[in-house]
Amino acid sequence: MLSGGPSYWFHAIGGLPVPRPALPGAIDVDVAIVGGGLTGLWTAYELKRADPALRIAILEARVAGYGASGRNGGWLCGALAGASDDRSRRAIEETVVEVGRVCRAEEIDADYVHAGAITVATTPVQLAHLRRDPLRDGDVWLTPGELGQRVRVAGALGAVFRPHYARAQPAKLSVGLAQVVERLGVVIYEDTAAVAIAPGRVHTLRGDVRASWVVCATEGYTGSLAGMARRLAPIRSTMVVTDPLSDAAWAEIGWSANELIDDCSNTFVYIQRTADGRIALGGRAKPIHFRSRTDAFGEVEGWAIRRNTARLHELFPAARCTRIAHAWSGVIGAPRNWTLGVNADPVTRIATAGGYVGLGFAATNLGGRILSDLIRGERSDLTTLPFVNQPPSRRWEPEPLRYVGAGVVYALMRQAERNETRTGRSSQLARLAYALSGWHRH
Ligand SMILES: Cc1cc2nc3c(=O)[nH]c(=O)nc-3n(C[C@H](O)[C@H](O)[C@H](O)COP(=O)(O)OP(=O)(O)OC[C@H]3O[C@@H](n4cnc5c(N)ncnc54)[C@H](O)[C@@H]3O)c2cc1C
Repeated sequence: MLSGGPSYWFHAIGGLPVPRPALPGAIDVDVAIVGGGLTGLWTAYELKRADPALRIAILEARVAGYGASGRNGGWLCGALAGASDDRSRRAIEETVVEVGRVCRAEEIDADYVHAGAITVATTPVQLAHLRRDPLRDGDVWLTPGELGQRVRVAGALGAVFRPHYARAQPAKLSVGLAQVVERLGVVIYEDTAAVAIAPGRVHTLRGDVRASWVVCATEGYTGSLAGMARRLAPIRSTMVVTDPLSDAAWAEIGWSANELIDDCSNTFVYIQRTADGRIALGGRAKPIHFRSRTDAFGEVEGWAIRRNTARLHELFPAARCTRIAHAWSGVIGAPRNWTLGVNADPVTRIATAGGYVGLGFAATNLGGRILSDLIRGERSDLTTLPFVNQPPSRRWEPEPLRYVGAGVVYALMRQAERNETRTGRSSQLARLAYALSGWHRH
């Protein structure tokens, strides 16, 4: 089994691409984007399409897509972190469709399938939580029998189907989009880490980039920039993927429509059936590294692989005799108020989009479209969404408090889950964990 590298998604397309040339020295551009993940790439794409004359450079520490964008669970979510008002919801639901439209228009083969998502309850407490959550437009309640017509999940007591979710292959989307923006005339400098950003300037060890606008698109890695250590916590998420399942195993499971699947436990998992017939499952690991450092290559601790594998086998016993092929991890960016933010300051001309808290795969496209409007001075329906140009979240507790706190919250969540499974009653420990962290599952 492979661990890290940094993800199966890259492995499936022949490994990490050879880096593009690094920044050759000092340059001047109109827009300098720090970070070549999907936030940076979508921002460049939207800006360049709106104004082809703009000179845009992306500065990427490794290669485009190397961060969460090339490692995630492939869920294009019709939901945003901390923004569930009607306008925000409509905007992100349309974004899920928009990502598919761009993939088709730009011929990015990213295994995009818009088949919705199914949230499954496997304990009485989970079922009660699921029943309490109001159904949104288009959501459909599924009895165990109705669920079984679509996909057979062991122990399911009920489920909700949500139509506004789509699946994609993260590395294919990131690598494909990087090629598209390059064709549009954006220059991507790889192996080029920024050390600090300032009004009109990005400092790198290879030279300074002077720019009218600077975009910070470093999400979980933002703490590596000077003065930004307490803006976004680099919270880890971990994935495992199986070898391709046999036809007999798929016949037992069903799941022919490729819906995404998650559960509603406190330590929830999110799952996709991949285009090449595997099951990819994401879940928890050690929540944060000591001193909030970000991982080098996405390796995963053995216990987390075993725990995620055990959950996969519980939900899909037919996958038991299929090997786990690959495990990896990455970091998401979480602000202290758990709400995404898209900001462009007309005075400093520094812009940023992020804090997606693990719901960024589609939201990066929305963030990029909003930043493109803001930077070009266009007022649109998107630039007046409630999470745009809001005061920054309060900063995180300093280390090592953050490290210790995250460990305690995760331990409480795990114990709460065990208690709830055993007693069939809602656990006070879960309430305590949510109260301590200030986070609520969306
Ligand atoms: C394991 C995992 C599973 C996830 N699953 C899902 C999911 O299923 N659905 C969903 O919606 N979201 C998911 N997410 C979250 C989602 O992937 C992110 O929200 C999204 O990709 C963020 O994109 P980004 O471009 O803002 O950040 P990133 O993709 O992290 O990009 C930041 C980039 O900045 C670069 N960088 C870092 N430091 C510097 C520097 N100093 N100078 C220059 N460049 C730098 C990095 O190399 C990286 O390429 C998951 C995340 C992880 C880790």
